[in-house]
Amino acid sequence: MNLDWTEEQAELHERLRLLGAELGHDLEERDGSQRLQDGDWKRCAEAGVLALPLPKAYGGAERDPLTCAIAMEGLGHGCRDNGLLISLGAHLWAVELPIMVFGTDEQKRRYLPGLHDGSLTGAHAITEGASGSDAMAMTMTASRDGEHYILSGSKRFVTNAPIADVFIVHATLDPELGFTGVTAFLVERDQPGVSVETRFEKSGLRTAPWGELSLKNCSVHASRRLGAEKQGSRILATTMAWERALILAPLLGTMRRQIDECIEYAHSREQFGQPIGRFQSVSNRIVDMWVRLEQARLLTYRAGWDLAGTTSSVFSEAAQMQVSEAAVATFQDAMQIFGALGYTKERDAERNLRDALGTRISSGTTDIQRLVMAEKLGITGRAGRPVTGAGGRAVVHPR
Ligand SMILES: Cc1cc2nc3c(=O)[nH]c(=O)nc-3n(C[C@H](O)[C@H](O)[C@H](O)COP(=O)(O)OP(=O)(O)OC[C@H]3O[C@@H](n4cnc5c(N)ncnc54)[C@H](O)[C@@H]3O)c2cc1C
Repeated sequence: MNLDWTEEQAELHERLRLLGAELGHDLEERDGSQRLQDGDWKRCAEAGVLALPLPKAYGGAERDPLTCAIAMEGLGHGCRDNGLLISLGAHLWAVELPIMVFGTDEQKRRYLPGLHDGSLTGAHAITEGASGSDAMAMTMTASRDGEHYILSGSKRFVTNAPIADVFIVHATLDPELGFTGVTAFLVERDQPGVSVETRFEKSGLRTAPWGELSLKNCSVHASRRLGAEKQGSRILATTMAWERALILAPLLGTMRRQIDECIEYAHSREQFGQPIGRFQSVSNRIVDMWVRLEQARLLTYRAGWDLAGTTSSVFSEAAQMQVSEAAVATFQDAMQIFGALGYTKERDAERNLRDALGTRISSGTTDIQRLVMAEKLGITGRAGRPVTGAGGRAVVHPR
């Protein structure tokens, strides 16, 4: 097995690393004020980041999922703004991708060009007040009314909601139907009955805007239904397979940068008359950080590789779990290596740690990743309703 990058993958990784290094101005101020840098989003769109997975027929770069992972890792290696990276990931993997896989030709023509040239922003709304991990227990309803559906209910913690032009919204045709009643819709921001507010202040990933989406008797034409009626759980399963595999790929780059900074500090910081890297507790800590990163990278690459296939894989959940847990442990270790400085805002470790903690909850908590893996591996074999992402055959390739 050859795990080397191709020349094309190496070039793309490096190009996005260099782009990333130019982003993230005013990060400390924006982390405080919870503000996304619009200009950075536009620069990513101009550089083709938002076109990476889309077919050439819709103006995309048609990169395979593994190459997308390597490219996003490069962007994360250069870019310190983890909020921007999560925001881009939610747009790419939870909005562009499901439209690509399940959209009609008319829907693809209406949304994909704007989504990849940066003129439209997308958000994916599933979580509700009473249904988080048990996402299929949602109460947002969609009732058929002639050529339209009337949607009512609210969603929360929706990444990009405050800046989104288009939402993929999951609603149930009848709560009694459980997961079999869930249906997906494309809802536009300026439709009557749509409102967004931001109630909760985040601990980390503060430059990624999020908010609550309320739909009050919002009339959505049947041509804006995504996929068939009652196909929502399958659409969500496919979306989660992609999101879980790829949304945290930038964190691989962030971890690499942080480990390099720790190695540099271990050489330059002296205590007891010698560089702290000579103390085994410090060098062992850095070795453990490196091993965790390599494990996370291998699982992400394998998940990306599997997405190009045709059958459901357990590696998306394994990657999400490993990258998020490795990131938390790595940034905590980095904080320790920098001593008191690491506990201040002088170093990125403090902000990176707050950011990484959120990734153990988004896209399903790490408990839920384990639950889904236990089902997919045939350990539990529950007969009840599927948990987030466990329903249906997960992988459908967009081309
Ligand atoms: C940074 C961030 C971004 C997000 N972006 C979006 C978004 O764009 N769109 C969106 O719709 N949502 C989004 N979310 C919401 C996210 O999907 C939910 O927070 C997540 O699914 C968990 O739901 P919950 O917060 O209601 O926790 P709960 O489901 O209430 O869980 C509480 C605790 O119980 C545990 N638990 C629950 N059920 C089980 C079980 N069966 N087995 C074991 N443990 C269990 C959980 O692991 C957790 O520890 C985001 C969240 C975060 C943090």
